[in-house]
Amino acid sequence: MSLIVQKYGGSSVADVERIKNVARRVVETKLQGHDLVVVVSAMAGETDRLLGLAAKISDAPDERELDVIVTTGEQISIGLLSLAIQQLGHKARSFTGAQVRIQTDTAHTKAKIVSVEVDRAQQALREGAIVIVAGFQGVTAEEDVTTLGRGGSDLTAVAMAAALNADLCEIYTDVDGVYTADPNVVPEARKLGKISYDEMLEMASLGAKVLQARAVEYAKNYGVPVHVRSSFNSTQGTLVVQEDAEMERVVVSGIACDRNEAKITVLRVADRPGIAAKLFGRVAEANIVVDMIVQNISQDGTTDISFTVPKSDFPKAMQLLNGVAQEIGAQQVEGDDRIAKVSIVGVGMRTHSGVAARMFEALARENINITMISTSEIKISCLIDAKYGELAVRVLHETFGLAERNVVEDRA
Ligand code: ADP
Ligand code: ASP
Ligand code: MG
Repeated sequence: MSLIVQKYGGSSVADVERIKNVARRVVETKLQGHDLVVVVSAMAGETDRLLGLAAKISDAPDERELDVIVTTGEQISIGLLSLAIQQLGHKARSFTGAQVRIQTDTAHTKAKIVSVEVDRAQQALREGAIVIVAGFQGVTAEEDVTTLGRGGSDLTAVAMAAALNADLCEIYTDVDGVYTADPNVVPEARKLGKISYDEMLEMASLGAKVLQARAVEYAKNYGVPVHVRSSFNSTQGTLVVQEDAEMERVVVSGIACDRNEAKITVLRVADRPGIAAKLFGRVAEANIVVDMIVQNISQDGTTDISFTVPKSDFPKAMQLLNGVAQEIGAQQVEGDDRIAKVSIVGVGMRTHSGVAARMFEALARENINITMISTSEIKISCLIDAKYGELAVRVLHETFGLAERNVVEDRA
């Protein structure tokens, strides 16, 4: 007998029929003799609906109150799923994040997990119950509810699996695994049999929302084996595991696209030491995370500095920078939130050369202009006009031959 943690995303519990379907699948696993902890998200669209209600009342809602509001979404799902399992004649008990208990810091809307206590969950398991846990939420030492960032139910599942020393963490979603690109954008995308934690972490951070990046990082740190699969069929999904030698043979294993960033350019800043430190120091003080940065070559003693920030922080960043620009004597601040960051990811890049050139040539052939570039050991990202995002993903998928069976089968 093993202990399995299963997580069902919003689309898998979108309505009562789907919740009943999840209940049937959960009971099937239980009948195979496993102990079971099930993490659920809010019903599809519910978190956005709740955030929308808050936005109708306030432009800059208090984040503690936002957490109070959005955590209700998952609370509804756990109660309904628990009832559905009981209807099938099995024992089930639901727990909120606070009850179970996932303790976090006080960074509302993006709280970090501090500790996971599993006494109550273990007690319920010993009594033969299927344990149902609300995803996405935690509680501070002062009993305030918090949330773990969008897509955070994945993190709840991985954290429960780590704390319970579970044999497996299964992430059930609306696609049957991790593909070489978003299958809803590239129909030829192929399912990967397995992917390394590092590649999955890059893919997730670069826009592949099939797993939350923080969840992948946590899984890597605690060595939790993750299986991403469909809640609508029983086909084998994708295993997220430690890297093996075989994986290096594939140069590019996936393409990702992120539309959630905005670009800011500070024009004609004095080109002298300390200016960049001041500019980015002020941005950091406002808790805004900067991603890509480019500084143009100076000609007349001034320079242009461009960088990207999360779209959600764009208005705040523009307001802040208009002030900073005056202080440092910059000419002007320009903003653009119609951008996309398209990236290629693969551990094989460590050992293969010429990959960047192939990427730039492919984009050039389609007349797609690149405004910023950033690289790491296993990824290359290009910033482009948002309207070319999907085209770029398709072109790069084709250029690196990701649809071809042999390339992907190397990995399976
Ligand atoms: P859930 O509600 O189950 O958490 P999400 O919507 O968060 O599901 O994640 C699943 C979605 O991720 C898919 O519908 C798909 O469009 C998207 N996606 C993006 N990139 C990929 C990829 N490389 N492989 C699979 N799915 C991807
Ligand atoms: N319901 C939350 C969200 O929409 C958490 C999740 O679905 O993982 O972000
Ligand atoms: Mg998700």
